[in-house]
Parts: sequence; C-alpha cells; structure tokens
Amino acid sequence: MPELPEVETVRRTLLLKLKDKKILNVDVLYTNIIKTDLNTFKRNVVNQTIKDIQRMGKYLIFILDQDVMIMHLRMEGKFFIKTKEAIDKHEHIIFNLSDHLSLRYHDVRKFGTLHFLPKDQYLSLYPLNKLGLEPKDKDIVEFYKQIHHTHRPIKAVLLDQNIISGLGNIYVDETLFLAKIHPTKIASKVTKKQAQLLLESATKVLDKAVELGGTTIRSYTSSLGVHGRFQNELNVHTKQGQPCPICGKDIIKIKVAGRGSYVCPNCQK
Ligand SMILES: [Zn+2]
Repeated sequence: MPELPEVETVRRTLLLKLKDKKILNVDVLYTNIIKTDLNTFKRNVVNQTIKDIQRMGKYLIFILDQDVMIMHLRMEGKFFIKTKEAIDKHEHIIFNLSDHLSLRYHDVRKFGTLHFLPKDQYLSLYPLNKLGLEPKDKDIVEFYKQIHHTHRPIKAVLLDQNIISGLGNIYVDETLFLAKIHPTKIASKVTKKQAQLLLESATKVLDKAVELGGTTIRSYTSSLGVHGRFQNELNVHTKQGQPCPICGKDIIKIKVAGRGSYVCPNCQK
C-alpha cells in the first residue's frame, strides 16, 4: 500500500509529465471509483488543464482550471502514462490528454477513490476536511491532547489519518522503533516527551523516505519507472528474525490493530 513517501514520488513524477496537459476526454470503465456525481465529473473534467498536482497526506490533488480531482490509491492503485496501447483489464479510468498522452488509472483491487470537487471549496469538503496534519506540521500540544484521551494502542492512533496523516504500516513501525515505544502501548500512557519524540521520529522517517523515492516492497511497486530505495534503510519492518541494529536482539513480528507489526522487544518496552 503506498504511504506518504510513495504518493509523493508518484506526485512528482506525474507532475513532470502532465503539467499543462489538457484533458480531451475521459472514459470511466468502473464507475464505483468516482465518489462524487459521475455525470458531473464526466461532463466537467473535459477541456480542463492540469495546472498542478499537490498532495495532502496520502491524497493526490490534481488542480484543474475550475475543479480538483482528489485521488486516493488505497491498496493497489497506480497510474500509467501511455500513448495508444490497448487498455489493460485493470485500467478503470482513461484520461486522453493533449500531446497524445493517455493517463490510465490502474487498480487490481478497485479500492481507490476519486472525488471531483470545485477548486474554491474542496478544502472544506470531504475527504480533506477531516484529514489530520502531517507529522512535520502537527502541533505537539494538539497531538498530545488528542492521544491523551484515547485508550487505543499507540500504533492504531498513528495509523488514524484523522489524527495524523501520511503514516501507514511501514513508517509507523519505523517511527515507533526510533522513538523506542512498543506499538501496543496504550496511547493515553504516552508521555508528552514521548509524543514529541514520535512527531520528530515520524518526520525524520518520512523525510528520508521521500528523499529516497519511497519503499519498493511486495505491497508497493512503482508503475512510473521510479523505484524507491528506502527498503535498504528499514530498521525493523519486514526484518523478523534479524538482529536489531541497535541492540542485536532478534526482531519479532506481532499483530497490533490487525496489522503485522515488527518490534525489537528489547529496545521497545
Ligand atoms: Zn533493539
């Protein structure tokens, strides 16, 4: 599943190739991906130009002339930029663009979403109105207040995009390892100092991962020819049975909040 660094890499790659391209027509082959009115989308997206592509958390935001397209890739969503190739069975939205380009939204599991909203209102509308800030922008006082009132495990809280956005399973494991906090620790027991350390660790992990183009592992591979290299920097995620880089004890895998979680039982008490 792509997390913030992978989505950021997709954003940068798409922007280089698609900036100022005009949408000449669109084919929607699987309509459930469009979460706002389908006919409005099909009618109004045509003849708009891609002015910019931005990102909030794991959402990509295509800024058009009058509207925006907000896309979430969920489990398996990918983009391909093609020309005249035949349409693959997993390509569900086909944007034919100026300069003979064809932007294909490809999604094997079909969990991805597209919201088409007016440019002057989208920040106050679902889905972005509920989204938490990214770790680098999150205020420590607000963060501590939010986690202090929850009895969920800290890992579940860090995965909650309404509290803090951009972290998924890989980067939460790495963040908790850097902060030396066990994923099952109840959030209300996290001290203010630990909360501060969590925000700093998450920022450090995400910045490094963005710099390296994200992580290419089984759950995420690039479709645009940019292969992330953060998998070489992972301390614990996927490292079950291997020695902890700090203390040398074996990394273990446990289940927290329904997700496979990698922990050093010695460093993360
Ligand atoms: Zn350790």
